[in-house]
Amino acid sequence: MKIIMVGAPGAGKGTQAKRIAEKYGIPHVSTGDIFRKNLKEGTELGLKAKVYMDQGALVPDEITIGMLMDRIHQADCRDGYVLDGFPRNIPQAEALTKALAAGNESIDAVIDVNVPDENIMDRMSGRRTCRKCGEGFHTRFNPPAVQGICNVCGGELYMRDDDLPETVKKRLVVYHDQTQPLIDYYSKQQILKSVDGTQQMDKVFADIVDVLENLG
Ligand code: ADP
Ligand code: AMP
Repeated sequence: MKIIMVGAPGAGKGTQAKRIAEKYGIPHVSTGDIFRKNLKEGTELGLKAKVYMDQGALVPDEITIGMLMDRIHQADCRDGYVLDGFPRNIPQAEALTKALAAGNESIDAVIDVNVPDENIMDRMSGRRTCRKCGEGFHTRFNPPAVQGICNVCGGELYMRDDDLPETVKKRLVVYHDQTQPLIDYYSKQQILKSVDGTQQMDKVFADIVDVLENLG
């Protein structure tokens, strides 16, 4: 099964993508995570991406598309994947559609996790991520058992640089401007499925599973 998650920054794409990946035994492919891993390792790609990420801007397509294509052509993606954070604009979506069509493949479902802008600031200001394993938490909505410590691996939790309010505002503008047109793009392909992302995490997941179990 090949799935795309779309939605505003902080809508819960990563949270739900992890659960989908676990339930269906497919890899969770997050372009943001790949950039952050590269940055942590100090690679050239990571340092290039950081300039854009810190501004709340999109990393250029010349870098992002090739990186994503390499990832989905790895062996573990053969039976499907859940994409989180890609595509983020129409050229990326078109590149993906074209690459899949060349192999007689296509996306099964695009899950739009719908959360209005007014909820996003709260989501982002409370987001905490584990430095070691990448697990996500929220200070209010999904707190760790011990403050500042990851439940899964005991690693240190940190707040992402790009979750500062000024950067979040810019990311929301970029989302509406460049990413939201994907809703229309995939809706025309009749593979768009919207879920209400303002509900509790478990309910959002139940709605997504319901969608995936009932694909035509
Ligand atoms: P995205 O991947 O779309 O940027 P995340 O999955 O990282 O978003 O979620 C953003 C923040 O909101 C995280 O701190 C996460 O724990 C929290 N969160 C995710 N889904 C929900 C939800 N349904 N209700 C409340 N908080 C949520
Ligand atoms: P995310 O982890 O999905 O919130 O992404 C964090 C940041 O990484 C974004 O604000 C962008 O700067 C960059 N990024 C992630 N995915 C993409 C993409 N598909 N295209 C361009 N930039 C991206």
